[in-house]
Amino acid sequence: MTAPSARDAEPVPAARRARPEPSRTALVRRARRINRELADLYPDAHTELNFSTPLELLVATILSAQTTDKGVNQVTPVLFARYRTAADYAGADRGEIEKIIVTTGFFRAKTTALIGLGQALCDRFGGDVPRRMKDLVTLPGVGRKTANVVLGNAFGVPGITVDTHFGRLARRFGWTRSDDPVKVEQEVGALFPRSEWTMLSHRLIWHGRRVCHSRRPACGACGVANLCPSYGTGPTDPVVAARLVKPGPFS
Ligand code: SF4
Repeated sequence: MTAPSARDAEPVPAARRARPEPSRTALVRRARRINRELADLYPDAHTELNFSTPLELLVATILSAQTTDKGVNQVTPVLFARYRTAADYAGADRGEIEKIIVTTGFFRAKTTALIGLGQALCDRFGGDVPRRMKDLVTLPGVGRKTANVVLGNAFGVPGITVDTHFGRLARRFGWTRSDDPVKVEQEVGALFPRSEWTMLSHRLIWHGRRVCHSRRPACGACGVANLCPSYGTGPTDPVVAARLVKPGPFS
């Protein structure tokens, strides 16, 4: 899972500049319609990180910083078999973890985070992963994005995951103008019922990975083109656009 970056900033397409801003009611209606269409397009959207416990998801999400879910899924079978509890991470040999996760990049910082995570969970939460945002964000290597992934996917607590794809698509849909992930989370959250937050996150991330790419979105092959104010940001010719679609899977 990739963090939001300045790279995603892009000029507003001429088509969108020329249009008046929709009313709040129209914005909400259109946003919810886009969400419904995306639900039809991606009925089985889910996190593409492999995990079977909250701790495994927390670890996998920390490892996913600045790399792909596929890259994380390649190292976690060995990591999860060797380290099963928070105490295992707390007492881990640094070199051993580094060796297992080296291919995910930033492996020294990630190793420090995983060992610190294990220690913090043991010291303050009895070795369990806490279920509250305010506790999760006190853990080493855990920001709001990671906390929302864990809350939404391991505990069923609605959360909006603002990664690079989510932020880019939310701006293209006109749901926010902000590059600040916390503001994006608040502004998009206000457009949808809480019960939709987790699945909305998966759907936007899936659409961003497959169709609405950062550099050349496949507008001519996009299932929500008729609702998108940024239609025309990428090629609209169906044949050209179809070549840009990445079918996945990404895990
Ligand atoms: S129409 Fe283009 S910019 Fe809008 S969601 Fe589809 S691919 Fe992205």
